[in-house]
Amino acid sequence: MQPLDKITKKEVGKIKMIVFDVDGVLVKRGTKIKQVGNTTTLETKVIAPKQIEQIKALSEKGFLINISSGRGLYMLQEMFREILPFVSLTYESGSATWYRGKVHQHFNSYLYLEKIFPKLKKVKSKNIKGFEPKEFIITIHCVKKVPEIEKIVAQDKNLYTVWNGEAYDIGVKSKQTKSLGVQQVMKLFKLKKSEVLAIGDNYNDTEMLRMSGIPVSADKTRVKGKFYVPLRGKLLPADKLMGKILEMK
Ligand SMILES: [Mg+2]
Repeated sequence: MQPLDKITKKEVGKIKMIVFDVDGVLVKRGTKIKQVGNTTTLETKVIAPKQIEQIKALSEKGFLINISSGRGLYMLQEMFREILPFVSLTYESGSATWYRGKVHQHFNSYLYLEKIFPKLKKVKSKNIKGFEPKEFIITIHCVKKVPEIEKIVAQDKNLYTVWNGEAYDIGVKSKQTKSLGVQQVMKLFKLKKSEVLAIGDNYNDTEMLRMSGIPVSADKTRVKGKFYVPLRGKLLPADKLMGKILEMK
């Protein structure tokens, strides 16, 4: 892996779409959630004014922008309200994409997750913080890993759990993945792999980055890329990336 500063004008010239992971890339890592009985409290992080300007500038230069996250659509719309005209939103780990008010569902997970959901709801652990509201995948926030959750999911060979340090995402293997999401978005906009740059910071971004012509890692301890930007520092990884591309284009 090379530092992002090594990217060439020729490489930047090929890019037609930039795919952004959200947490740890466009906003700081960490989701605040609290669940007491049927009341869920969830903090909304909003994109910073500087990133809004950068995304608008990229869009004006002709780049397509795709935001790909494990979060739900309702939440992404709130986070990115100000830039909705300029982006497509791929949500719940590649399950569907919103673009200009139209939802393209990439996979139907209903029958796969129907039976496991009540089993997971029954798990009792002081380390479980709450279930994040989702439509197509299951996300359980925990203080630390809860082996009982992993055990239940492992009984179904169709399902995966991904632990990201603050929550489990549970979905259908090789179907509800950001990698499939990015492939569907490439189809939607008729793009080739070589025309896509993707940036992500976590384990669930590995395959998505592999699907892109120019993968950029925002945390080289968790995910590999052709280039990397540091996770920590004054600027968010997306800020560094957009600054670099805007300066070269
Ligand atoms: Mg992330």
